[in-house]
Amino acid sequence: MKFYWINQANFSKEYQQGIIQASVDSRNHARLRLLDIRKGDVIFSFSTQGFQAVLIAKEDGIQRHEIQGVSCVITCDYYLLEMPISTTVVVSATSQYLDRLYSPINSNGKRNNGYVFPIPLEMSQVLLDMSQCSFDIIRSSVECSAAPRRLGSINRLIRDSNLAKEVKVLYGHTCQVCRTPLITPQGYYAEGAHIIPLGQPYNGADVIGNILCLCPNHHVLFDSFAFSINDNGQLVGLEGNVFIHPNHQISRKSFSWHRDQFGLIGLTLVKRRG
Ligand SMILES: [Zn+2]
Repeated sequence: MKFYWINQANFSKEYQQGIIQASVDSRNHARLRLLDIRKGDVIFSFSTQGFQAVLIAKEDGIQRHEIQGVSCVITCDYYLLEMPISTTVVVSATSQYLDRLYSPINSNGKRNNGYVFPIPLEMSQVLLDMSQCSFDIIRSSVECSAAPRRLGSINRLIRDSNLAKEVKVLYGHTCQVCRTPLITPQGYYAEGAHIIPLGQPYNGADVIGNILCLCPNHHVLFDSFAFSINDNGQLVGLEGNVFIHPNHQISRKSFSWHRDQFGLIGLTLVKRRG
């Protein structure tokens, strides 16, 4: 997987079409850079709004031969930041990586003429941290390539707040239910699970007391009310106990809400299976 910076002067048009492109009249280097892109590569999008989206290529860059000449179009998943981050802020955080000959931004913070620029891994980590997308969003691109894009999951991933990160750090990125560390080439992987979901219709709070650190399997099971948790940490619908860190005050209201849902939905599922 490689990382790129893209200066999208026509952001809204390309976003609506879900593509990045170099048309036949593009400068040659723009097209050549697009041809380097491979499915799954991560592209950080900048326009006059600043840093506004993280894109994941859904296919390899391949030359298209048209009557007028050669072009290249790549379909991408667009993950919008909730708020664009000004280019000045990004430049100050990444200036040490921007002094190269072929750089997306010049020393005055003005965008250079090129379209796509490869960037080093260290710089992409800074941009991922700024976007709060973390590793979750990249992982989801692997899922997206196999399954149709699901807006619900994208919203959840974008909302992986600093608080969710804090909870994951508290548990060393290890699931509170199975305590099994999931080790990827990028490091330990876990998910911040909101007990009462954020947004409509439940409007759960984005507070530490409403967040658990779970592995992807237990996250899905918990969100679908396949099991629930008693106030003392005892699992309902599964054997055993959830591990609760002494510094983690979990909201009783959240647990109680989840058990109510489990009672309504989970038990119906058990009945159906029976
Ligand atoms: Zn687990």
